[in-house]
Amino acid sequence: MADKRDYYEVLGVPKTASDDELKKAYRQLAKKYHPDLNPDDKEAEVKFKEANEAYEVLADKEKRARYDQFGHAGVDPSYGGGAGGYGGFGGAGGFDFGDLGDIFSDFFGGGFSGGSRRRSNPNMPRQGSDLHTSCTIGFFEACHGVQKDISISRMESCPDCGGKGTNGGTEPQTCPDCGGSGQTRVTQRTPLGTISTQRACSRCGGKGKIITDPCKKCSGSGRVRVNKTINVSIPAGIDDGQPLAIRGQGDGGINGGPFGDLILTINVRPDTLFKRDGYDIWCEIPLTFTQAVFGDELIVPTIDGKVKYNIPEGTQPGTVFRLKGKGVPVLNGGRGRGDQYVEVTVEVPKGLSKPQREALKKFDELMNDQDGKQYEKRKGFFDKLKDRFEQN
Ligand SMILES: [Zn+2]
Ligand SMILES: [Zn+2]
Repeated sequence: MADKRDYYEVLGVPKTASDDELKKAYRQLAKKYHPDLNPDDKEAEVKFKEANEAYEVLADKEKRARYDQFGHAGVDPSYGGGAGGYGGFGGAGGFDFGDLGDIFSDFFGGGFSGGSRRRSNPNMPRQGSDLHTSCTIGFFEACHGVQKDISISRMESCPDCGGKGTNGGTEPQTCPDCGGSGQTRVTQRTPLGTISTQRACSRCGGKGKIITDPCKKCSGSGRVRVNKTINVSIPAGIDDGQPLAIRGQGDGGINGGPFGDLILTINVRPDTLFKRDGYDIWCEIPLTFTQAVFGDELIVPTIDGKVKYNIPEGTQPGTVFRLKGKGVPVLNGGRGRGDQYVEVTVEVPKGLSKPQREALKKFDELMNDQDGKQYEKRKGFFDKLKDRFEQN
């Protein structure tokens, strides 16, 4: 249990996947590993259960939020087992949510979205904000994966003051109003007696410290904006509109908290020959009338280059041929690739020369002698038509 796989990894989706993406990924896995389709296959059974469990958590907004923040410990009371686990806090399968919220915010520095008694100690380490940006790549780059330089502008700890916000290596001073506690007590006389309440100190904003000589570079905020270029490895199989979460490339944290993430949305330029449907690729190839009649060896473009494909005699327009495994590689190291589908159309020639017309007329006369049996569909159609008129 201790080496449980990451749920996003299990489903093969990025951390930022939408509900629809999750559902799609889960359905694909469920189909692939379903016990009915894989009888006596222990590995498939394990994979099936794993996918079920991952989807059960990630499809539930609340559970997903807990998982994102605390990993498996946030959603599985028995996780970790024994003395170290969190099992003691909840009943069987249930959490005492309010208590856990506080426990977690003590451990992890607040921001526990589900808890009503959320703490807001301004000196707590907090994770930096996520940054959002996008990047456009080519169709083939999305199929094969690509490295891209991405320019970002993010907040980082000020290099001059080391994030303290003070000038010349001095320390912030203890706030004289609250004596460093960050809280001030306000006593009010009311008809019911004297009521004393605590409030965050207005002078220091609850921090307990004030900066009298602020750093010149960051004006005392302790953070500065930094422009930088990072090299991002975009995985093969990414599709148009999919976001990638790049850990630790967002804004710097506050009070020594960790960096946020960079959420990079990938836009994929469409291709003139290929269209993508999930991990499958579609392309359309126009045939001449004679190619369709006689059959031919076609040169079919694929994302790996050109391949030869033999179409049989009498190939009909709209026929779809499948090139197995010639589609897009499955994202995040998933197994295999999609397929490529080739749909053929038949182009009717226009602007024929006189000899071409003569030849076709001759051909047409020869076809009439055959009682239409070489035109199966057409014959079938007229037979049905005849039946229809005879019935009425
Ligand atoms: Zn104060
Ligand atoms: Zn500074």
